[in-house]
Amino acid sequence: MKDLHIAVVGAGIGGLAAALALQRAGMRVTVLEQAPQLGEVGAGLSLSPTAAHALRWLGLGPALDSHAYLPEDQAVRHYRDGHALQWTNRGRALLEKYGERYYLIHRADLHDALAAAVRGNDPGAIRLGRRCAGLEQAADSATVGFADGGEVTADVVVGADGSRSILRQLLFGDSGPAYTGYIAWRGLVPMERVPQSVLDPPSGIYIGPGHLVNRYPVRRWQLLNFVAFAERAEWAEEGWSIPSTVDELMSEFEDWHPDVRAFLAAVPPELLFKWGLFDREPLTTWHSGRTTLLGDAAHPVLPFLGHGAVLAIEDAVLLARAFAEAGEVGEALQRYEAARIPRAAFVVRESRQAVKVFHSHEPEKYTQKTGGRAADERLGLFDYDPSTTSV
Ligand SMILES: Cc1cc2nc3c(=O)[nH]c(=O)nc-3n(C[C@H](O)[C@H](O)[C@H](O)COP(=O)(O)OP(=O)(O)OC[C@H]3O[C@@H](n4cnc5c(N)ncnc54)[C@H](O)[C@@H]3O)c2cc1C
Repeated sequence: MKDLHIAVVGAGIGGLAAALALQRAGMRVTVLEQAPQLGEVGAGLSLSPTAAHALRWLGLGPALDSHAYLPEDQAVRHYRDGHALQWTNRGRALLEKYGERYYLIHRADLHDALAAAVRGNDPGAIRLGRRCAGLEQAADSATVGFADGGEVTADVVVGADGSRSILRQLLFGDSGPAYTGYIAWRGLVPMERVPQSVLDPPSGIYIGPGHLVNRYPVRRWQLLNFVAFAERAEWAEEGWSIPSTVDELMSEFEDWHPDVRAFLAAVPPELLFKWGLFDREPLTTWHSGRTTLLGDAAHPVLPFLGHGAVLAIEDAVLLARAFAEAGEVGEALQRYEAARIPRAAFVVRESRQAVKVFHSHEPEKYTQKTGGRAADERLGLFDYDPSTTSV
């Protein structure tokens, strides 16, 4: 199928990847974003070989190659004495096995590249300041209504409006978010403030009782991105960007190795945020009538395997490929979710499990649990190519 008008609600990484994929499949796409300006939060993103296959299919291989940091190795270290519990190759070994490797990128760099490509195909495709508040469906169309009046009617609507999706709520109701008992800080540290001796190797994870710290370089080695997780009994607010203080962070990681404390202490306060991690029950179907869901709207996922954006990008390619293969809209939406729900459900489930290995109260036993293999290898997470898998 070609030449349909598709409205995508949300211009995050998932919505823009979907827009680009659908344009590539010959559709006219209108992206409706609530924010008055396009932007992404300042944070890093790890992209798996499967996401790299998808981005190359989207024509974004050159952007990936020019913006991403390509780690050769990743170490998992003990939180207190810093010794390496596990050392995994993220470069050549992956390339040989999957034809792609691991990429570490600043979210804004990927987001900018996606937006530029969508606008390159159609300068008017992205409309800002459009907060979707309602949905009406007819037999052959769907109409999105905006909070401040006005509407857009399209042949198909794709809800890519994130984990607190209004489209998801309008289609299926909302089971409501459940607080997981974990909170996290994210920060970006200018590399000149980071002692180079702590970057061995540059991509590293530290695990300790009830805590986990992941750090890696982004933006061509200009910034060190970190995410630091901790357990906390109660949390009220859902949202990514609650300001924190360096003192609060340092007291949470008080007895940690000096290497970790060195880069945590160096974060500029204006680049430090915290948030509580919330979970939602997975859906068993993503579409109703002429509307479907994609990315975090369809399958919110905890960040412990670093796979939320990966899944959203994979969804985008499969959605476009389903339209290319199908004879009519209902069939395309059915084929898309049949291809994607099992994969997304698997990653959502395993992301919930992964925290139990990382937040170990006995970090010394880490390799006993993992058999010395990274989670993606144990789970076969990379045995998937969204550009060729059947749809
Ligand atoms: C700490 C952390 C680290 C992570 N690290 C990784 C990682 O390393 N690798 C990885 O793959 N994933 C990672 N993720 C997950 C990843 O960031 C998300 O899963 C991914 O960004 C989801 O993209 P999305 O486009 O579906 O949703 P979002 O990025 O949430 O975008 C939704 C968009 O919809 C817009 N919107 C919302 N409501 C409306 C409305 N009513 N009308 C119009 N527009 C609306 C929003 O403004 C936003 O622009 C991480 C997540 C966290 C929290």
